[in-house]
Amino acid sequence: MEELKKKKGFIIDMDGVIYHGNKLLPGVTDFVDWLYKENKDFLFLTNASNLSQKELAMKLARMGMEVDPGHFYTSALATAKFLDSQAPNCSAYVIGDAGLTNALYDVGITINPIDPDYVVIGEGTAYNYESILLATRLVEKGAKLIGTNSDLTGPAPDGFIPACRTLMAPIEMTTGKTAYYIGKPNPLMMRTGLKLLGVHSDEAAIIGDRMDTDIVAGIESGLDTVLVLSGVSTMETIKQFPYRPRLILNGVGDIAK
Ligand SMILES: [Mg+2]
Repeated sequence: MEELKKKKGFIIDMDGVIYHGNKLLPGVTDFVDWLYKENKDFLFLTNASNLSQKELAMKLARMGMEVDPGHFYTSALATAKFLDSQAPNCSAYVIGDAGLTNALYDVGITINPIDPDYVVIGEGTAYNYESILLATRLVEKGAKLIGTNSDLTGPAPDGFIPACRTLMAPIEMTTGKTAYYIGKPNPLMMRTGLKLLGVHSDEAAIIGDRMDTDIVAGIESGLDTVLVLSGVSTMETIKQFPYRPRLILNGVGDIAK
């Protein structure tokens, strides 16, 4: 724990670490107060693509926590950054919510449902049979297939819901093409996170609730790894993975104690 507390930068997952749905988790306020008091650099890094930085800040504000929008980074922003670096001013057909579309617009990418360079799939309510069909046609015609994040499922109050990789499956299976995924655990997103924090990986830790995204991302990018049991992982499910986090905590509140 002392080793963790000495780190300069913290990359923190949101769902299952900070909140569940619209409920702040116990100890989170103490932890964020600690980050500010100790002058730590921190970034909330989420594979969700539906909300903008300002919307995420507002969501936390509604739960009673004030955090500047600059402390958030999403898979939508990482996807926009990747496409902009690969093909500036390219066009894309997008299945996803406003957070994703706006992130793409912000870097100069045009939305194009006729002959786009890319088909980009995120999570959200825009997903339906018609949109899958169009995405399939466009990929068959040569558009490259991109997913915002490789999560199979996400948490919901009444059970699991299909996430980006599951939503991608019909398009991949019909076209025979394989999507490239940008969010955690892709080191692309981790490197950008570290750059935004301005710290080296040795001086940073990642705190998350998922072994298959947060912890593996931290291990592969050389960060200290902290798993919290306030989300999807349990002591039982951890055993199924060939790697382990350096530290396991009940929740982020433990760090502020
Ligand atoms: Mg999570």
